Amino acid sequence: MTLLTFRFAPSPNGELHLGHAYSALLNQQLADATGGRLLLRIEDIDTTRCTPQFEAGLLADLKWLGLGWDVPVRRQSEHFAEYRATLDRLVRDELVYPAFMSRGEIRAFITDSEKRGRDWPRDPDGVPLYPAADKALPVKERKRRIAENAPFAWRLDVDAAMAHVGKDLSWAEFVDETLSATRAIEARPQDWGDVIVARRDIPTSYHLAVVMDDALQGISHVVRGRDLFSATGVQRLLQEILGLPQPAYFHHRLILGPDGRKLSKSLGDTGLAALRRAGASPDDVRRMVGF
Ligand code: GLU
Repeated sequence: MTLLTFRFAPSPNGELHLGHAYSALLNQQLADATGGRLLLRIEDIDTTRCTPQFEAGLLADLKWLGLGWDVPVRRQSEHFAEYRATLDRLVRDELVYPAFMSRGEIRAFITDSEKRGRDWPRDPDGVPLYPAADKALPVKERKRRIAENAPFAWRLDVDAAMAHVGKDLSWAEFVDETLSATRAIEARPQDWGDVIVARRDIPTSYHLAVVMDDALQGISHVVRGRDLFSATGVQRLLQEILGLPQPAYFHHRLILGPDGRKLSKSLGDTGLAALRRAGASPDDVRRMVGF
């Protein structure tokens, strides 16, 4: 039997909280129970919001919790050249297009359209889909704008990508944390519209980096929060057009705050460092998240 490989993949753009602790500990427990290994990946492509201080804090928190991981740790900011090479392939295959609209322009475009009585479609997170205008730009106009150094992001042409794949996609989702059985979930990447594949000054996006790294690191089991459940459809599509293997997924329950809402990195009192300072032990944290 091949070695099962799990990963915990935090972003060092804030302090870890109880939700991260649950995710990390669950991955560790599953790796231990299956004789598999656990890898740690630092998802720091956003070089303005991610800082070495947050990364150091995160590593200290995880060590304090008693998490053990195989080395080397993969740090995404050290692999921009690899992401760029893959992006170049997608550009060559005409599966991505340059998207020039700024956030403000997108907002104005949508407000204008909604004023005329048309509800604008939104993705499962409630974010308005990217308008189709840039996809329709003639090649000459695209080239002109790029030559003039107009800033742009690369967006996936989701219809072209689906047509390229030519079949419906699904992924294997474990039914519970015993990882004993999976069910097939229909991938619906269209619900997200033309997602960003490379940001304005970064040759990748969360989705591109995650599918490439899961493949490169040989991840067999992606265990992460339910908040990423439906985004998995986008990742399945990227895996398919890039010819990458597909891991099996388990999207675990989220740890909610006292107000019943998802924890965020700005909620100080559920932060692991704050809990530690207040005298909590790693066992207290385990209990607090239900282990
Ligand atoms: N880096 C992501 C986060 O911190 C997790 C990505 C993933 O597990 O696929 O929310």
